[in-house]
Amino acid sequence: MNDVLPEEVGRWQKLERIFRSLVELYGFREVRTPIVEDTGLFVRSIGEATDVVDKEMYSFERHRDSLTLRPEGTAGAVRAYVEHGVSKREPVTRWYYLGSMFRAERPQRGRYRQFHQAGCEVFGEAGPISDVETISMVYSLMTNLGIEGVEIAVNSIGGPGTRARYRDALLAHFTPKLASLSEHAQQRLQINPLRVLDSKDPRDIEASQGAPSILEHLEDADREHWEAVVAGLQALGTPYCIEPTLVRGLDYYTRTLFEVRASSGQLGSQNALAGGGRYDGLVASLGGPETPAFGFALGIERVLLAMPEEPQRVAPLCYVAPMGVEAQRLALVAARELRGAGLGVEVDGRGGSLKSMLRRADSLGSRFVLVIGESEVARSVVALKDLVAHDQQEVALAELVARVQALASRPVETTGGPA
Ligand code: AMP
Repeated sequence: MNDVLPEEVGRWQKLERIFRSLVELYGFREVRTPIVEDTGLFVRSIGEATDVVDKEMYSFERHRDSLTLRPEGTAGAVRAYVEHGVSKREPVTRWYYLGSMFRAERPQRGRYRQFHQAGCEVFGEAGPISDVETISMVYSLMTNLGIEGVEIAVNSIGGPGTRARYRDALLAHFTPKLASLSEHAQQRLQINPLRVLDSKDPRDIEASQGAPSILEHLEDADREHWEAVVAGLQALGTPYCIEPTLVRGLDYYTRTLFEVRASSGQLGSQNALAGGGRYDGLVASLGGPETPAFGFALGIERVLLAMPEEPQRVAPLCYVAPMGVEAQRLALVAARELRGAGLGVEVDGRGGSLKSMLRRADSLGSRFVLVIGESEVARSVVALKDLVAHDQQEVALAELVARVQALASRPVETTGGPA
């Protein structure tokens, strides 16, 4: 679990801002749900025999209830959607969320126990449009964040009918290889053989070679949906690659699945930036009406690792350097006036030498320093130093705001030196 210090927060805010403004263009509105939910909610939605539920949940007992710190955002969003009868008010609902998630995983670069996700859910649309638009939206988001060369893997795991057929085919593939599978996969094979395809264990990866492709087992309606998704991505020019072994770790998915990966850079094995898919059965299984749905979540820490570095410094525009007690009073008033006009100000409160105050202004990156000494106090003026234009002038307090605004909006003329 990490602290995010102010030096890094600027990048978080940039990501959050770009995320919000893009998804709002698609009609998504923000929802905020609790960080703690009933444990049963996650067991029922994410599914037993998943890594998250079996090994990674932070669960605890209180007043005989079993509660869990949310490991992902969809279960809580669906619970809220059902609990507030949202489907009765609107036929289609688009929600987005941002927040902390918790999984007791083995930490490594890009994998944390408290991490943050930004995600979207569309409720009420069964057709392929929401699949195509959402996947393409995530691609645009990565582009808007300056992340290049992402890879988008897509697959369909069909509906329950397709999966029953595929399950038989997978059992036929894995059963003769049972002894070579990891213990974990051996246990999972009967519960959900798709899980074995999702295993990271080298023995299971080896045994999965040559496994039948689910895309060859799609029922007609599932295939029609899948073909329309692929055609839509093509029409929008959203790059994708079809990956028949992509099954993803959560049980609630149906039909389209996708994962966005960083193709290069610092992420190593933790290169999944975002993932999601269709979950047409989940709302009903959590007690709501039959409601098709599509959603995704991106990992904020991972996306930040993939985003290009750029220097980010938010310096107050003005630094006020008062010398003496009376000067401090004038400094307070000057600062209030400037801030009232929306200009950033830091007032020196240390009372050191002018030199040390100028050094502080310089290291902050402030453009203006307001020097106030006894003679300035006596005349209600400040000495306004422009550290960029290397210029100084005396300004009456009453004119300070207008003068700073005028100087700040004027391009600085630099003389001499190479361009
Ligand atoms: P998931 O909910 O497992 O589909 O994950 C969606 C995204 O969340 C992944 O693609 C990652 O970017 C991110 N993510 C999942 N688990 C972690 C974790 N433990 N630490 C950091 N990011 C994570």
